[in-house]
Amino acid sequence: MKLQFIGTGSGQTSLKRNHSSILIDSLDSKLLVDCGDGISKALLKNNISFKSIDSILFTHYHADHFSGISTLITQMKLNDRKNELKIFTHKNLVEPLKEFLHTCYLFEDKLEFEIKFFGYEFDKDYKVDKKLYFTAKQNSHIRNKYKVNSIDENRFVSASILLTGENAKIIYTSDIGEKEDLFLFETREPEIYITETTHIELEWLSEVVNFYRPKQIFLTHISDEDERKITVFLKNQTFLDTEKIVVTEDGQYVTLS
Ligand SMILES: [Zn+2]
Ligand SMILES: [Zn+2]
Repeated sequence: MKLQFIGTGSGQTSLKRNHSSILIDSLDSKLLVDCGDGISKALLKNNISFKSIDSILFTHYHADHFSGISTLITQMKLNDRKNELKIFTHKNLVEPLKEFLHTCYLFEDKLEFEIKFFGYEFDKDYKVDKKLYFTAKQNSHIRNKYKVNSIDENRFVSASILLTGENAKIIYTSDIGEKEDLFLFETREPEIYITETTHIELEWLSEVVNFYRPKQIFLTHISDEDERKITVFLKNQTFLDTEKIVVTEDGQYVTLS
């Protein structure tokens, strides 16, 4: 299993980092987790063919995780893609996604490849391919701040995910809202724990280490402004094994045996 950080930036557009996206290669197929604004250029830059992405999984629909999808599907179309594309998104968001694509003149019957939409529910296991499974859990993200009403609730979905490959488990919190969201999964000792740096306090990482005992922690969703703060924090703290903590960069590869 391999993964590559395609976009490690935050919601703020940066010249240094692309918006959120992680490519997971299970060695059976390639899954893109989120495809933020600018994903097509980011994939080109990393020499990743638009045809090679077999499936896409969305954690939530903030623009920095979602809005690259219309350009990406357009590029697949322009590059004569023929192979099927699977899209995993929360079940409440399948119809809004289709509507969005139609608004971008992307109609399923006008494409030469099939898009299969899978609406996932929280706390259930789903198969991506022969070697890769995922489970999603609802996190709070901006829910508390926005005080969503019951109608919005159907659309306001934000997931953290656990990916289980042949020899490795990966937890990706995606964007969260409060400390408790760091501890949603019961799985311990994942090979990789990926979390974001925009909505968390870096001090909480020591609790993540104690709770999960991950082999490595990857920090992503980094704004230009926070980059220096993170480096200074890691340099000055004493309770974390800093060799285990990786401040991600765009294009960075990780191979898991
Ligand atoms: Zn974000
Ligand atoms: Zn977000």
